Amino acid sequence: MANPTVENVVIIGSGPAGYTAAIYAGRANLKPVVFEGFQAGGLPGGQLMTTTEVENFPGFPQGITGPELMDQMKAQAERWGAELYTEDVTSVDLSQRPFTVLSDEREVKTNSLIIATGATAKRLGLPSEHEFWSRGISACAICDGATPIFHGAELAVIGAGDSAAEESIYLTKYGSKVNLLVRSDTMRASKAMQDRVLSNPKIQVHWNTEAVDIFGNGHMSGVKIRNNKTGEESELHAKGLFYAVGHTPNTSLFKGQLELDEVGYVVTKPGTVETSVEGVFAAGDVQDHEFRQAITAAGTGCMAAMLAERWLSSNGLIYEFHQQPETPAHELEHQPAAKKTEVEEEAGFNLQATRHEGGYALRKLFHESDRLLVVKYVSPGCGPCHTLKPILNKVVDEFDGKIHFVEIDIDKDRDIAENANVTGTPTIQFFKNQDLLKEVKGVKQKSEYRQLIASNL
Ligand SMILES: Cc1cc2nc3c(=O)[nH]c(=O)nc-3n(C[C@H](O)[C@H](O)[C@H](O)COP(=O)(O)OP(=O)(O)OC[C@H]3O[C@@H](n4cnc5c(N)ncnc54)[C@H](O)[C@@H]3O)c2cc1C
Repeated sequence: MANPTVENVVIIGSGPAGYTAAIYAGRANLKPVVFEGFQAGGLPGGQLMTTTEVENFPGFPQGITGPELMDQMKAQAERWGAELYTEDVTSVDLSQRPFTVLSDEREVKTNSLIIATGATAKRLGLPSEHEFWSRGISACAICDGATPIFHGAELAVIGAGDSAAEESIYLTKYGSKVNLLVRSDTMRASKAMQDRVLSNPKIQVHWNTEAVDIFGNGHMSGVKIRNNKTGEESELHAKGLFYAVGHTPNTSLFKGQLELDEVGYVVTKPGTVETSVEGVFAAGDVQDHEFRQAITAAGTGCMAAMLAERWLSSNGLIYEFHQQPETPAHELEHQPAAKKTEVEEEAGFNLQATRHEGGYALRKLFHESDRLLVVKYVSPGCGPCHTLKPILNKVVDEFDGKIHFVEIDIDKDRDIAENANVTGTPTIQFFKNQDLLKEVKGVKQKSEYRQLIASNL
């Protein structure tokens, strides 16, 4: 098989959730492997590849096309080292660790998994549906309702649940009238939502009514409808038709392997993106039947990557990609340990070693080191410190024997942090011959640390 290594994290899906997870995991040096998909459950790039303007994604005041937005997300994921395969995942095995992810081309073993396979809006399969899709027909009123062509126009919504109710109410902001087509003589929406629909003077509910086809010339101009009770057919003029007939989450791969709800959405723990299987996270529309927006998908993608990193870290599973999966010696040195006595510190101190820890070592090195001294100040529970760790470790390894590196936990060595005027973590200070050359706060790119060290050796 192409890649027998155990990966830190595999991400399935390349919509806003998948790419955002890849960006975050990449920046945390987890070198994520992303299966972008090919044909299963949509396109590489996800649902936004099928839309024109995206007007509500923050950062693009003039709007941006869906494909352009996704190209940029992809480029950002690649920039941070994500390994992308434009392949469908054909099966996963979550019953054994590491997990196995299989495509037609490769088998990948991974310690954690992020599911971002999205959901597919259900279509009705009307004869002219394909012709008028995105030319009047939309599966997302929140996304497309504000389009100028719908302003002041008569619109229609198909559905009977909360989404249909909500979308009808939302569309009254733009349309002159909203026709809600309900197949039976009742709605499934909550009583409160039904009350809002029924009391809205701009909404007309057509009970026992279903769509038969769409008509128009280039852009749709109406819907052919049929009354289910009488069989009578008629034409309803509307410039927009919004489907709110549900989504099908792309979860067939996971059936029987983790908890799904009755519709098939991945069940996540409230307020998080953890699934019923430890180390497996779900982000975006695949676990969200309520908001289903690019920004919420991206947000949960970010959460999934951060939780995956935390989970890997707390289970001692993080490693630099393509290194031997054994824990390197310096990582062992970094396991939290009880504070040593001065005598123990002195006995264990070795001026020739590159890596050190704690106040005693810092004081010794400050006076005795003839190398560049790099001091990293961290604190327990500091997320960015966590992110920084693998980034800086890699750079420190590159300068083994040429620098001294000390890690100070400001919680354990408060006096040192105070004397060094450290006001937040992570902070890195660079000293040479007892002079402070530079202080860097927060997490920077590897190249920045590398360059700083190389130019001050
Ligand atoms: C026409 C349209 C217009 C929209 N407009 C807007 C808008 O303007 N603003 C907005 O915020 N939202 C909009 N949305 C909603 C938005 O697109 C979704 O909320 C968002 O794309 C969800 O992101 P996601 O990453 O969860 O999933 P998706 O974007 O659905 O991506 C899922 C990914 O999973 C992959 N995949 C599925 N199965 C597999 C498999 N077996 N193996 C590998 N990969 C797989 C697919 O290839 C795809 O890359 C629109 C949706 C539609 C349909």
